[in-house]
Amino acid sequence: MELSGLQIFKYLPAAKKAENSNCKKCNCPTCMAFALKLAKNQISIDACPYAPDELKEKLEYSQKQPQKTVEIDGLKIGGENVLYRHEKTFINPTAIAIMLDCSKPDWENTLKRIENFEITRVNETFKVDLIIYKNSTENLKSNIRNISEEEFQKLQLYNATDKDFVLTSSKLIDIRTKAIQEKNEKYSNPTYVKFESGQDLNLLCAQASFYLCKYANMLIFEDFDETLISTLLTLRQNIFTDPQKPLQVEAKIYEFNNPDENSIIFMTTNFALTFFAVASELENLNVPSYLVVTPAEGMSVLTAWSAEKFTAKMVAKTLKKFNLAEKVKTRKIIIPGLLAHMKQELEEEIKDFEIVVGTIEAYAISDFVKSLDQN
Ligand code: SF4
Repeated sequence: MELSGLQIFKYLPAAKKAENSNCKKCNCPTCMAFALKLAKNQISIDACPYAPDELKEKLEYSQKQPQKTVEIDGLKIGGENVLYRHEKTFINPTAIAIMLDCSKPDWENTLKRIENFEITRVNETFKVDLIIYKNSTENLKSNIRNISEEEFQKLQLYNATDKDFVLTSSKLIDIRTKAIQEKNEKYSNPTYVKFESGQDLNLLCAQASFYLCKYANMLIFEDFDETLISTLLTLRQNIFTDPQKPLQVEAKIYEFNNPDENSIIFMTTNFALTFFAVASELENLNVPSYLVVTPAEGMSVLTAWSAEKFTAKMVAKTLKKFNLAEKVKTRKIIIPGLLAHMKQELEEEIKDFEIVVGTIEAYAISDFVKSLDQN
């Protein structure tokens, strides 16, 4: 764990009420200011001539990287600092690799399938991260990053694959725990698990999902299966998001089913999960519509409202920026049902539009739009 400013401060003269307290020789106004800067790596410990050796040792240990990072042609593996994502964040997603045996009769077909495979989830597009090819006399020509098996074996990676699931998962947990908690050099290499050809797909999926969560840095499959890789990539995206950065989409006006100036207008914030729930309903409606997405640092509507990231003034400013009043003749905006309490406030601020309270849940949008038609 990195040292906090307060933990550093305890070692400095001011905390001990010793001579030289707050002497400013480090160009900081106080020892506390120095400690806070040092915790953020904005100053060197050498700037304080009175910093004790004990603090220097503790700092050096806290800054020691627990797990190495291995790089293959831009693909980073390992480099993790924590056991649990909520402690800070995970750094490099578990790499998904396919072992391609070029001595098999259908290997070129498999290569094509790997190259053509691609999925898009929450605005991100994923492909297979790496092909490890074997039994080939020449380098593999592919638009997917690749490495020969011989070169792969030379990397500083630890093969955690064992006889069965229990042994492999225990090994993965043990290695990661020792690397992070003890900063034990012996366990600092990133890990991988390899799945041999011909295994039951359901079992493979369950085991690989567990290893992805705890704590394989790379998964290697001898068989390529699109559904398995899609499932793992979707899981991976969830596990490796930064908990400090909510998933968000661009704040702008989105169009569904070729809207014109008389089409209905919905509004929400740029929290990705809300956006995709609403967008998928609007797409399937077969009714032309607009969705105004306001900037709210990726917060959901209620969170944004309580954090003052969705205020009437901000909404009015956003609509002005998007030129909505000039773009359409429609004079009604449908807001999320969770923000019904803002109706009057929004109407006072947004003179050009009437505010209509919509549904609380996205799935109810279809019935809600039908009820609008009948009115
Ligand atoms: Fe405190 Fe050291 Fe800075 Fe002096 S040089 S103010 S003792 S941190």
